[in-house]
Amino acid sequence: MSAKEYDVIIVGGGVTGAATVRDCALRGLSTLLIERGDICDGASGRNHGLLHSGARYAVTDREGAEECIRENRILRRIASNCVEQTEGLFISLPEDGLDYQANFIKKCREAGIDAEAIDPAEALRMEPAINPRIIGAVKVPDASVDPFRLVDAHILDAQRHGADILKFTAVTELVKEGDRVVGVKTSKGDVIRAREVVLAAGIWTAGLAQAAGVKIGMMPSKGALIIYGHRVANMVINRCRKPANADILVPGDVVSVLGTTSDKVPVETCDDMHATPEEVDLLMREGEQLVPSLAHTRIIRAYAGVRPLVVADPAGDGRNVSRGIVLLDHETRDGVPGLITITGGKLTTARLMAEMATDLICKKLGSSARCETAVRALPGSEGRKPRFKDPFNMRAAIGRHGTEVAQMDFEKGGEIICECESVTRAEIEYAVKQFGVRNISDLRRHTRIGMGTCQGSFCIRKVAAVLADILSVSAEELVREYMQERWKGMTPVLWGDTLREAEYMQKTNRDEI
Ligand SMILES: Cc1cc2nc3c(=O)[nH]c(=O)nc-3n(C[C@H](O)[C@H](O)[C@H](O)COP(=O)(O)OP(=O)(O)OC[C@H]3O[C@@H](n4cnc5c(N)ncnc54)[C@H](O)[C@@H]3O)c2cc1C
Repeated sequence: MSAKEYDVIIVGGGVTGAATVRDCALRGLSTLLIERGDICDGASGRNHGLLHSGARYAVTDREGAEECIRENRILRRIASNCVEQTEGLFISLPEDGLDYQANFIKKCREAGIDAEAIDPAEALRMEPAINPRIIGAVKVPDASVDPFRLVDAHILDAQRHGADILKFTAVTELVKEGDRVVGVKTSKGDVIRAREVVLAAGIWTAGLAQAAGVKIGMMPSKGALIIYGHRVANMVINRCRKPANADILVPGDVVSVLGTTSDKVPVETCDDMHATPEEVDLLMREGEQLVPSLAHTRIIRAYAGVRPLVVADPAGDGRNVSRGIVLLDHETRDGVPGLITITGGKLTTARLMAEMATDLICKKLGSSARCETAVRALPGSEGRKPRFKDPFNMRAAIGRHGTEVAQMDFEKGGEIICECESVTRAEIEYAVKQFGVRNISDLRRHTRIGMGTCQGSFCIRKVAAVLADILSVSAEELVREYMQERWKGMTPVLWGDTLREAEYMQKTNRDEI
């Protein structure tokens, strides 16, 4: 039994849990977040990285569209360091016609989204890579957001306001006294007590709730994505038609992410989610309609995530199910006090989800503290970015971490270790200290090491040597772990240049270490 009793325990370290622990901490509640893996192990680390303007939902889900545009504007301010203000284009091809476009613009405007029809020639001038067959284009305020950076920033802020974060520890049971949930039991055997327990465990929420006698109907909806090794467009490119497969291309740092699909999958498969070769074929076929040069752009990997959708009717593929925010007060809904669920929603709306959950927690705990998360900048995004005399080696780190670079010692650790993403030793040391990095896969999530065009082929031995030095572990083991992990995303795309690169990566990094 842990001696400390918290006001709040949050289960799940995706964007929803991270935003909620930040909000609770800012309102002065003693809060613990428990995550079974590293942060962003679920859908939050396996999505498109699109900061929705809401345009995608304007025709089908007005409420969702309005939430997105409000949160889009807030995140551009409070998380400026995680958001790239790319803007977006919705393009129409001859087979789409222009009827959808007319209604789309009307619905966007009704939801408060600036949607401006532009001439196809002007769209091609803005983005020369898009399909030259376009017959129409609409400019909307979509943007690109780095989910890892966004979640990191929330976690850092929560910790700096007194929250505790327990990673690599699963909640195995909700502990009850009578009907009331009074805490959790962890995979380490501890029982930790809290006045309120919040389930923010994505698609795994239903299983946890069920064990406490609470039923939540959830439908796992799998989405597959592929990463191309270049940034083929600078704006988010969407297809202007009823949402369908592979109709969004998002630029993310030096690469482009194409997706997605939407398929109902069994809940047992959610722990081991991969894109299949069939999904890759489908994505490629459709993606080439958006940007024809994708046909000969190298694919570097494919991955998949599961949307945590809550359903009344579990039939269907998931596109017709609400992606709206679901806040459940299990005291009033199920007669189980001490337990709250926050799920559904999107990466874009996580801050709002957290605000709703924390308002409810405060009401239950008798606190009148107000939400400040819409106006308080996240770590890295406060104030002006620092200036350095010779910023060459620090430029990428400033882009990634903003004002947080003040905590990095470039004097001692200025040498670049990962060249695609210009990651220095100073940045690696910062990530180890701030985020409890244990291996190269963890490091990747906090620095983008190995996420660039070479996928680690050229730098991974250097990275392993530096990390082994900092952590006092075996460099050989670090390389082995990284290779096994990265291999998973490469197998569905192994042909042509990707296969050649995979062979090169295996050879140089396996044989020589
Ligand atoms: C393919 C795809 C593309 C998407 N694209 C976008 C997009 O471009 N823009 C956008 O706004 N949204 C997008 N989304 C939606 C968005 O990614 C999700 O809504 C969001 O990430 C959900 O976050 P979450 O924190 O609720 O869940 P998750 O990120 O899944 O987090 C749940 C966490 O709970 C942990 N957990 C589970 N069980 C336990 C346990 N017993 N103990 C402790 N921890 C536990 C898991 O390890 C996980 O880290 C996309 C989703 C998918 C699947």
